[in-house]
Amino acid sequence: MIKIEHLGIAVKDAAKAKEVFRKLLGADAYKEEAVASESVNTIFFQLGESKLELLEATDPNSAIYKYLEKNREGIHHMAVAVDDIYAEIIRLKKEGFVFINEEPKKGADNKLIAFIHPKSANGILLELCQEINPT
Ligand code: ZN
Repeated sequence: MIKIEHLGIAVKDAAKAKEVFRKLLGADAYKEEAVASESVNTIFFQLGESKLELLEATDPNSAIYKYLEKNREGIHHMAVAVDDIYAEIIRLKKEGFVFINEEPKKGADNKLIAFIHPKSANGILLELCQEINPT
């Protein structure tokens, strides 16, 4: 694992949250992207070498919608950058970690992603992500 790539933050109202984080960080968001497969809108802020990813549900089937029914707004997941997501999944499964999706899927911000279930990672929903090469 290379670094914390981003923290995912579940928000009810992306426009309001965007303004809060703009003021907080003293910088504008650099990207907004709807991810239809996850039913979320995402807003990204750069923070040093890492990022903050604001996540707003676009419909009740979204994992973020379900999360916010049971939890307050706040940190939803931690994403770590990896060089080879397929090799990391094999390594971590051998170590006993349970994946929500063992097959990497395309996430926001040009990444292949896979989630480890929080029950096997001390309560942290962990996202592995690997930059998709533009080739
Ligand atoms: Zn994420």
